[in-house]
Amino acid sequence: MIHQRDKLVTAARSLYQRGLTHGSTGNVSVRVGDKVLVTPTGASLGTLLPGEVSVMDVHGKHLSGPRPSKEAFLHAIMLRERPTANAVVHTHSTYSAAVSCLADIDSADAIPALTAYFAMRVGKLPLLPYYAPGDTGISADVARAAADHSTLLLSNHGPVIAGADLAAAIDALDEIEHTAKIFLLLHGMPTRPLTEQQRQALVQ
Ligand SMILES: [Zn+2]
Repeated sequence: MIHQRDKLVTAARSLYQRGLTHGSTGNVSVRVGDKVLVTPTGASLGTLLPGEVSVMDVHGKHLSGPRPSKEAFLHAIMLRERPTANAVVHTHSTYSAAVSCLADIDSADAIPALTAYFAMRVGKLPLLPYYAPGDTGISADVARAAADHSTLLLSNHGPVIAGADLAAAIDALDEIEHTAKIFLLLHGMPTRPLTEQQRQALVQ
């Protein structure tokens, strides 16, 4: 558990230092047995210490340590719906958040597969309806989408990503943020995303 706390804090700091989170936004969680370590409410991921990590169960019940992030319920849903996932990352990263604010986005496929890496690491990214941060009214939408997708984009907000471990979740976040940037650079230009056939060939 101590080792997992250190890994979570190191990952959180890396997200902050690389500009993927700002202020006290963003939260990270790791499943350890029947418990979940999660970043606390109001904390900056850049200065979080291992002793300041919250502990909850997979139903979002606070077990020990500081109060979990008010967005911890998103992590609990992802971990319940995706039994093979052991880590969840949620950020308000700039380019992903920008895409989540665009009108005319395909809610089944928010960022097209412009590159092979996006198709392989992310696949189809569903866009969920807007709810205020911390509003548990979004829970049913998250659960429904999480059953089929390890990565979600919340409207006017940011991505939620589940991975087999922290490294995998962060890798997918990096890919979403990078492809969101490309998508915005190309916005309004005629573009040629991968075809469904090209996508399928990569997934197999
Ligand atoms: Zn958020």
